[in-house]
Amino acid sequence: MSRPCIICVAITGSLPRKEHNPAVPITVSEQVESTHEAFEAGATICHAHVRNDDQTPSSDPEKFARLKEGLERHCPGMIIQFSTGGRSGAGKERGGMLPLKPDMASLSVGSNNFPTRVYENAPDLVDWLAGEMRTHNVKPEIEAFDLSHIHKAASMNRDGRIPDNIYIQFVMGVKNAMPADKDVFDYYVKTVERLMPDAEWCAAGIGASQLTLNKWSIAAGGHARTGLEDNIRLDRDRLAPSNAALVKRTAEICAANNRPVATASEARELLGLPQHTL
Ligand SMILES: [Zn+2]
Repeated sequence: MSRPCIICVAITGSLPRKEHNPAVPITVSEQVESTHEAFEAGATICHAHVRNDDQTPSSDPEKFARLKEGLERHCPGMIIQFSTGGRSGAGKERGGMLPLKPDMASLSVGSNNFPTRVYENAPDLVDWLAGEMRTHNVKPEIEAFDLSHIHKAASMNRDGRIPDNIYIQFVMGVKNAMPADKDVFDYYVKTVERLMPDAEWCAAGIGASQLTLNKWSIAAGGHARTGLEDNIRLDRDRLAPSNAALVKRTAEICAANNRPVATASEARELLGLPQHTL
């Protein structure tokens, strides 16, 4: 029996807006509704950013708190992961929601270029965010935009800055960063297996690479991320009608590869997170 595949849905992000795709959830109530549909379609991690009413990115802990409350009520057992990514705030603002104790938070451990700017993750900020996650018992998801970020995660685990049971995500297809390159992907997998044999890993592709990375990752035994944050289209001609439609597409790739889609309980077990209790 092959291993269950965890599907993560990145519901909103900080970039896509209603004028790009009207299905992008912006308000907290839209986010809860969109996540609930995605949860029913098989997603068991919700990766979330929050927005202001004018659709600009926000890092307001009060919005994160309302989102967490709505998700806990409507998607029982789903793993809640907040973004500490750099588009939603500056410096320590990025970790202002960690005291809310979501199950997980994203953690970038190095810098790279983005389409129009530097994605800056200075070593002292990375250490501060990792420390806040340890303090509040929030599991980090390491965002690897580059091979050096995988090595950095391994070294932070060796000296205790990142706890065991590492979860690492390869991000490919961001303009000016690592493209979706199969040889690099294979080498990422090999490097994680060599440096952190007990780690679980996932992959996210941006734009049209989303489908490509879903296929590579599911076939190679990893987990998969989808959602409107990374990609707003089903194909060249059609906008994705919802986050759930993208999750459904990912679940179909799992079925074609003989990978069962992980339940919330299985996802929690794979990631070493406490089980949900009623
Ligand atoms: Zn994100």
